[in-house]
Amino acid sequence: DILSLKGIGEYTAAAIASFAFNQPYAVVDGNVFRVLARFFGIQTPVDSTDGKKLFRSLANSLIDKKEPAKYNQAIMDFGAVVCKPVLPLCSECPLQKKCIASQKNLVGLLPVKEKGIKTRQRFFNYLLVENGDNIYVNQRTEKDIWQNLYEFILIETDRMIPEDQFLKSKSIETLFNTSNVKIDKISETYSQKLTHQIITGRFIHITLKNEAQPLKKYTTVSRNELKKLAFPKFITAYLQD
Ligand code: SF4
Repeated sequence: DILSLKGIGEYTAAAIASFAFNQPYAVVDGNVFRVLARFFGIQTPVDSTDGKKLFRSLANSLIDKKEPAKYNQAIMDFGAVVCKPVLPLCSECPLQKKCIASQKNLVGLLPVKEKGIKTRQRFFNYLLVENGDNIYVNQRTEKDIWQNLYEFILIETDRMIPEDQFLKSKSIETLFNTSNVKIDKISETYSQKLTHQIITGRFIHITLKNEAQPLKKYTTVSRNELKKLAFPKFITAYLQD
């Protein structure tokens, strides 16, 4: 009857039935999906048609028939506070001994989602080019990550370029006459994970053998001024090392 009301789906109907009428219907929200997927070690995607059916029927088979409202509230709270999406409190969890995900080392992999959000891999090569006592910087104004923060000369590539091929890359040729460029130092690889992107990159210290034309898009700042600029964490991590 509740389901026949306009705009009421299975989740809301189960919540009304159990919380308002103490009827034994399991409320299955994201927290419940996660707790069940981990405790029972279920790898069926929670957002698939089969997965939704399977988890709903499992949740209904587990519900405490005498205290459905308390049970529903408890399992949702448990998912929010103990069996959290990131860093669940497994070592303090009263269910750990019987939890399949914990036993099989699957905690970080469950629940499985069919429509996972794609993570974009980006490769940033930062050139630290000094011009006398000054260094070239650029303010990121485009609609992209790190908007309005500063950076060094960026050459973004579609993969990590081997060190010995770096001077042959087209993007660097558009900036400098490569015969005028001497690479002094290439840093180790740094990496930062953002919400939907992974940035991997290096810092390449360059000296120009002869005086070159100033680079149009960039400004130069002194070492002292450099300290006052706001850089993304990816760059400050390097500067602080
Ligand atoms: Fe969740 Fe960890 Fe407890 Fe398993 S042991 S139910 S993964 S908190």
